[in-house]
Amino acid sequence: MSATPALFDTHCHLDFVAFDADRDLVLERARAAGVVGMVVAAVHPRDWSRIGALAAAHDDVYAVVGVHTEVLPGLTAVELDESLGALVAEAGVHRAVAIGETGFDSRVAAEGVSLETQGKAVDAHREAARALGLPVILHIVGAHGPALDHLERSGPFPHGGVVHSYSGSAELVDRYVALNLHIGFAGSVVRPNARKPRAAAARVPADRLLVETDAPDQPLHGATSSRNEPSEVARVAQAVAAARGETFETVSRFTTENARVLYRLP
Ligand SMILES: [Zn+2]
Repeated sequence: MSATPALFDTHCHLDFVAFDADRDLVLERARAAGVVGMVVAAVHPRDWSRIGALAAAHDDVYAVVGVHTEVLPGLTAVELDESLGALVAEAGVHRAVAIGETGFDSRVAAEGVSLETQGKAVDAHREAARALGLPVILHIVGAHGPALDHLERSGPFPHGGVVHSYSGSAELVDRYVALNLHIGFAGSVVRPNARKPRAAAARVPADRLLVETDAPDQPLHGATSSRNEPSEVARVAQAVAAARGETFETVSRFTTENARVLYRLP
């Protein structure tokens, strides 16, 4: 027993300028840590080409196109409409494996873009994903109740999706799973006394669980760098395994398999 188990970072932002100086080294460290795949979620439409180029250059990096809830306050209505209208075509150009990230965020609502307006953007992503037969990447922060009420009105996602960096309660896991969604865990499970995320991680059915870093965001507790990176997904998987009473190897194996199934990868 010495081989490093295969891990999959199902949500990161390798395109960010934070990686411009040493991106290849970051990728090498991820591979050395056992990471066999990294999905790069989109934030701003201007990043789509960069993400597509990154995925085209590396067999283990996968592209996503979408308009992050967080950028909605900075887009005009025309810009947003154009971007949402371009999702299907751009997903094809960049060989996207998912559509997103999109979602509901109470901080964005506080900035003046209501949850109702955010929901319209979510619906556009959902429609593009349905047309393409792809899963959706959801970002839900401080708005799990309204998000679930909205999502449940349209029923299960036909091609699945993931609630990334899950911050909801264990009880709400069941409602997301009933919508044919996976649940992704990031660094919050690593924090000492992280009772809520650990309870949620223990609740998720094994075939619905994913791990991620959200790098360069969400540096892990105890990390020496303020910049997170995909190699750290191993520590996330270890914390999830501890929360579930399973081994690191077991959790690594099924979360990597789940990622391949969700994103339809060989
Ligand atoms: Zn993200």
